[in-house]
Amino acid sequence: MSIQENLIEIKKTIPDFVKLIAVSKTKPNEDILLAYNSGQRVFGENKAQELSEKYQELPKDIEWHFIGHLQTNKVKFIAPFVSLVHSIDSIKLMEDINKEAKKNNRIIDCLMQFHIAEEDTKFGFDFNEASRLLNSNIFASLENIRIIGVMGMATYTDNEVQIRKEFQNLKLIFDQLKSEIFKDNISFKEISMGMSDDYQIAIEEGSTMVRIGSSIFGTRNLI
Ligand SMILES: *Cc1c(COP(=O)(O)O)cnc(C)c1O
Repeated sequence: MSIQENLIEIKKTIPDFVKLIAVSKTKPNEDILLAYNSGQRVFGENKAQELSEKYQELPKDIEWHFIGHLQTNKVKFIAPFVSLVHSIDSIKLMEDINKEAKKNNRIIDCLMQFHIAEEDTKFGFDFNEASRLLNSNIFASLENIRIIGVMGMATYTDNEVQIRKEFQNLKLIFDQLKSEIFKDNISFKEISMGMSDDYQIAIEEGSTMVRIGSSIFGTRNLI
């Protein structure tokens, strides 16, 4: 099936209140334009320099999301335009995004990434770490970032029970942060979870943003 047909089929399975992020990492601009021309406006990338080049070359009404591990020295490439950083995994990264956001006279929306998978290769906070950080004076001083929710990746497995449990865990983390720290904050409302193979489970468990790559654009070459 073509990229347009894939998009149409996937959109049929996603409720209106869930935002579809088309993950275009490693894919050429022509592929992104095919999706763009069938109405998709939100795209996700996981390399700062690749994202910056695509931003410069492609239509300016695209909403770009950064979804991968972001090295602090790369923040400057995306700070002028990025719409949402899904992958805050350290205080240092928060401080650097805040600094670059300030330089660009912006407030940058971010999600806190949580480690919900069994594998220890995936980045992210655990609840206590995040809670300590969000209650700290350092966090209170960061005026140019806004935390609008959480993000997580489930274990890469066929075990649906396990995947579901991990997504439920992220939803619990969200609910707890909402009630303990972001109670009066209406912006704190996003749960970014679900990829090509598990997004339907994620939506059942409360996802508000799904990040889908290969089911739209086809499999990626390993690089
Ligand atoms: C690549 C990637 C995705 C998309 O994965 P697919 O399985 O191709 O849908 C989603 N989230 C993150 C963080 C990614 O790096």
